[in-house]
Amino acid sequence: MLRGPEVVKIYVLRIGHRPSRDKRVTTHVGLVARAFGASGFILGDVRDEAVLKSILKVCSLWGGSSFHVEDGVNSLDYVKKWRELGGLVIHLTMYGLHVDDVIEEIRKSGKDLLVVVGASKVPREYYELADYNVAIGHQPHSEVAALAVFLDRYFKGGELRFIFSDAKLYVVPSPKGKLVVRSEERSEPEGLDKVH
Ligand code: SAM
Repeated sequence: MLRGPEVVKIYVLRIGHRPSRDKRVTTHVGLVARAFGASGFILGDVRDEAVLKSILKVCSLWGGSSFHVEDGVNSLDYVKKWRELGGLVIHLTMYGLHVDDVIEEIRKSGKDLLVVVGASKVPREYYELADYNVAIGHQPHSEVAALAVFLDRYFKGGELRFIFSDAKLYVVPSPKGKLVVRSEERSEPEGLDKVH
């Protein structure tokens, strides 16, 4: 599968971020978004330069210069606008419908997706505005895990083979050691799909 502008756009919106305590988890949400095939990460309602900087640093080294990163947007307005433009809003919550019961319908829609994940308690409005409230199982766990499983189900595991064509650093799979090459040293590997 070749990832490019013709494919569905998936953005991840992180809401409820508390800069004093959520930096690490929110950064991981952004990193999972990028690594698991989303095209953008939006931090709702607050600004947090440290989070953006960490994500952009990974993009600059490991690829993803077109990965969209933004903070300080009004989350509710963003969700409403996304729907007005014809995209689907997916809210990840343990109270929603089981992912395996809706993922095919979501994929088949062919629509752009805004995947909303919370930090603290998610206001009721998001449950109502979402086209799908999706549960990754019905136990409380983590936004990082929930996002990873959702994207993995959406891409049917194919995202783990995506590569970033603009990566400066690239891992060569190795049974024991750590083998990293710089892009100028690398020839295009077979069996891996390009992303962005
Ligand atoms: N207590 C909060 C509430 O009731 O809204 C949720 C806190 S949880 C640590 C943070 C986020 O992880 C949630 O907003 C949701 O997006 C995600 N999450 C946690 N467990 C989930 C599950 N089983 N399925 C889907 N998303 C989940």
